[in-house]
Amino acid sequence: MREPVLRVVAADAADDVLTVIRASFGARPPLDPPTEALAETSESLATELGEHGGILATVDGEPVGSLVFDRTGPGLQVRRFGVVPGAQGAGIARRLVSAAEEWAVDAGFSGIRVKARMELPETLRFWEHHGYVRSGRVGVTARLVKVFPVRGRLVTPDDTRGLGRRAARLLRAGDLLLLSGDLGAGKTTFTQGLGAALGVRGEVTSPTFVIARVHPSLVGGPDLVHVDAYRLGGIDELDDLDLDTSLGEAVTVVEWGEAVAEGLADERLEIRLVRRLGTDPVEPTGAQEDHDPREAEVRAVGLRWLDAGLSGLFDPVN
Ligand code: ADP
Ligand code: MG
Repeated sequence: MREPVLRVVAADAADDVLTVIRASFGARPPLDPPTEALAETSESLATELGEHGGILATVDGEPVGSLVFDRTGPGLQVRRFGVVPGAQGAGIARRLVSAAEEWAVDAGFSGIRVKARMELPETLRFWEHHGYVRSGRVGVTARLVKVFPVRGRLVTPDDTRGLGRRAARLLRAGDLLLLSGDLGAGKTTFTQGLGAALGVRGEVTSPTFVIARVHPSLVGGPDLVHVDAYRLGGIDELDDLDLDTSLGEAVTVVEWGEAVAEGLADERLEIRLVRRLGTDPVEPTGAQEDHDPREAEVRAVGLRWLDAGLSGLFDPVN
C-alpha cells in the first residue's frame, strides 16, 4: 500500500468522511444500543466538519481513515474515529492519533478526550496504548483522556517553590500529587512552596524519617499530607497509617510517588524534576557555581485536569 496522506479537512470533505464512517463503523460487531455514527449523513458531517474540522487520511486519493473534532471543551474531543477494513493494520489509526494530537497542541488545546464503547476491548486497548487513560464511564461508553504534559525550567530554588505555590492554586481536597526525581532534585523544595501557598501549619521538611506528616490547614482549606513513599509498599498502606486527617479532605503529596503510582486509576498530577546541569550548554548568566537548574515536567491524569490551567504553572513567578 502507498503511503497515506493525512490532512485537516472542513465541510467539503463530508462525503469522504461519510464513506470512511460507513465502511469502518459498519464493519464493527453490532452494538446495543447501536452506534450513532451510522446515522451521520453528508449534511450532518458537513455541519460538524465546518464548525469543528477533522482529519482525513487517503491512499492514492481514496479515503481510508478519518476523525471529526469537537471543540466544545474541556480539551478537544475526537469523534467518529475510523479506518476502513481494507486499510487496517497499516498504521493509519496511529497516524490519525498523532495528527490529531499535533493539531490540538498547535491549536492550544490542553489535551484530548475520546469516548469508546465498553464492548470493544480492542478499541479501549488501542487508546490506552497511545497514552489515553480511562476517566469514568457513562453507561456503555468509557471516557478516555490524555492531558498534554507541560514543562518548564526552574533556574533557582525559588522557581521550584514558585511552581509549588502555583500548583496549590489548582489543587483541592482529595487531590493526589506524585513527585519524582533523584535525591536533591527539589521535591521537598516544591512541597515547601505548596505548603506555604496552602496556608498549612509547620515547616515542610523531608519526610524521610516519618513516612508521612500531616500539616493541618490554618486557613480552613485542605490539610497537606506529605509522604515519603520510598519505604511505603503502596498507596493503600497510607490508609493504614492512621493519619490525623482523611485523604479525601487533604492534598496528598507523595515524594518518590512513581514507585506507588502504578495501578492508581484515580485522577492525579505527576511532577518530575530533573537536574539539567551537565546536559545543557553552560549559560552565560549568573555565577556558574550557583547555577544548577532543574527541568520540571507535569503530567496530569484524568478529565479534571483538562482546561484546569496547567500551562499557567510555568508563568513567571509573581
Ligand atoms: P529532594 O526533596 O528532591 O531530595 P530538595 O527539595 O531537598 O530535593 O532539594 C535539594 C536542594 O536543591 C536544596 O538545597 C534546594 O535548595 C535545591 N534546589 C531546588 N530547586 C532548585 C533549582 N531550581 N535550582 C537550584 N537549586 C535548587
Ligand atoms: Mg525530599
